[in-house]
Amino acid sequence: MSPGRVALVGAGPGDPELLTLKAVRLLGAADVVLHDDLVTAGVLAFARPAARVIAVGKRGGCPSTPQAFIEQLMIREARAGALVVRLKGGDPFVFGRGGEEVDTLRAGGIDVEVVNGLTAGLAAPSAIGVPLTHRAHAHGVAFVTGHGARDGAGPDWDALARSGLTLVIYMGVARAEEIRRRLLAAGMAATMPVAVVANATRPDQVAVVATLDDFVDDMRTAAIDAMPAIIVVGEVAALGACAVAPAPTAATAHRSR
Ligand code: SAH
Repeated sequence: MSPGRVALVGAGPGDPELLTLKAVRLLGAADVVLHDDLVTAGVLAFARPAARVIAVGKRGGCPSTPQAFIEQLMIREARAGALVVRLKGGDPFVFGRGGEEVDTLRAGGIDVEVVNGLTAGLAAPSAIGVPLTHRAHAHGVAFVTGHGARDGAGPDWDALARSGLTLVIYMGVARAEEIRRRLLAAGMAATMPVAVVANATRPDQVAVVATLDDFVDDMRTAAIDAMPAIIVVGEVAALGACAVAPAPTAATAHRSR
């Protein structure tokens, strides 16, 4: 049996039409597909019908499948000759633990390929018309995690507030109040525009465009709490239109093989 291998593949933010051609090709050839729960059914529809499709993410507040278990499963299947597609929401190398998985797989002697996906931090702002850079407003952008905002373990919010960069915050919903407090304490204006986009590019996309002062209240009003969301802080956020519906997608309606 020929040696198997693992492809770490970005599934993009949800809309299947945002998959790369490489992702579609690998899904169509996979023996085993291991996916996180941010991966949508429309994306999984591209898996080879005979592939074993296994969900390994957190489900409704249940603990996630232990990382070591996922890694051992990939190694075992690849050693048995399988083409394993490890499908991750967005891009595998942006807050996706892709780096750790590549290390473990290579240490296990497994051939690994990484295929980029469209990261939520790029897709979500665009889905409501927010450009991350703009000659009149922002000369750069920082992608940061909201994790650790509460206990001081995360990014340096003082430095970020002073940077003038557009801030694109992942995993920030549960810590939104803390992030708001820290940016205000660092001297950022209460009127600084903030946009929040949840379930970006999916049929249930929800967005709010507000200010640093009131975005947390607006998020609550829009019931953005348990949904995956991107928070964009910066002048460019004011260019967003929360009424924009996600673009209709042909690929959700049929399987293309
Ligand atoms: N690797 C992923 C990020 C994983 S971390 C990527 O590149 O996109 C999980 C966080 O991603 C969520 O907490 C949320 O902040 C963001 N996210 C993922 N999918 C999203 C979507 N469709 N809409 C808005 N935010 C999303």
